Amino acid sequence: MKYPCMSIDVEKIRHNAVTVSRLLAASGLRFVAVNKATCGHPEVARAMLEGDPLAVADSRIENLRRLRESGYKGETVLLRAPSPSRCAEAVEVVDTSLVSEVAIAAALGEAARARGKEHKVILMVDLGDRREGVLPEDTPDVARAVASILGVRLAGIGTNLACYGAVIPTREKMEELLEVKEKVEEAVGFPLERVSGGNSANIPLVLRGEMPRGITELRLGESVILGTEAAERTLIPGCFGDAFTLHAEAIEVITKPSMPSGKIGQDAFGEVPVFVDRGNRKRAILAIGRQDVDPDGLTPIDKGVTVLGASSDHLICDVEDAEEDVKVGSVLSFVPNYSALLRLATSPYVEKVVKKP
Ligand SMILES: *Cc1c(COP(=O)(O)O)cnc(C)c1O
Repeated sequence: MKYPCMSIDVEKIRHNAVTVSRLLAASGLRFVAVNKATCGHPEVARAMLEGDPLAVADSRIENLRRLRESGYKGETVLLRAPSPSRCAEAVEVVDTSLVSEVAIAAALGEAARARGKEHKVILMVDLGDRREGVLPEDTPDVARAVASILGVRLAGIGTNLACYGAVIPTREKMEELLEVKEKVEEAVGFPLERVSGGNSANIPLVLRGEMPRGITELRLGESVILGTEAAERTLIPGCFGDAFTLHAEAIEVITKPSMPSGKIGQDAFGEVPVFVDRGNRKRAILAIGRQDVDPDGLTPIDKGVTVLGASSDHLICDVEDAEEDVKVGSVLSFVPNYSALLRLATSPYVEKVVKKP
């Protein structure tokens, strides 16, 4: 075995996908599988398909292309609007794009017409999170403009909360989206097929039975991959929270004073660190760093281990109270949160190992 590596238990992802898909179905919602946190890992995608998703969605064209090339025939959704220079590629690989600008929809329409295709778009509405989306009052006019573009079909509207502004999805926000939908239908003169209500932060609403009828789907990544809802990060009943685990090897284990010695300036990332004097402590340096992982997003699996910090290539852990005797070559294991997983998946230095059942 080579380290560092991220172990992927696809059986647990399969289980989570089926669990959240059933949970959604009970509220009349379809599951859209989002696999961007793993860089579109093909075996994770295959496991997510067990949840019978309406579509597979990703923020990157590259990931959706790989999925297509692996033989996936279902609908693909691009979560981040394509750049103007990449609309031709988007039309080639993707069925549906989430958009918030008429200019992007127009570029998609032009690219689609050139290929004798029709491209579906979902117009995003900003209900307060202040990432992508048209303001609610402007949505009917923008929708009319989008609907008039040849080569583009306005399939519906959508919203995304709890990403930039950390605005919590509530029943009121979902009802506001449904009001916007009615106004859009009046403006364009045809019914919208889809109302895409949000991401894993909407799960608590579903669990409380508060999703209003009329929302057709949720786009879910974290809840399937990590088993957690994205509002307060609690485990969803019946889901596994440890489908992904990080394993890294100790390259130094020395007992040292917990306080640095000397005049304190800036650390490797321009921060001025603060330390607590706990006397001499046994510390392990693991061969992984900020280039590969967000150290703040790691929960040690081994009892008595705590993460102290990291530089680009060194993860420093306190192992004084570790149950196992940690030595050079010892492998410590961690469960990553979303931010840690994202970086682990993206790092070419971390081997991805799919656990065979
Ligand atoms: C990433 C993303 C999602 C999925 O978010 P999760 O919290 O992982 O479920 C849904 N919609 C959009 C637009 C996204 O960018």
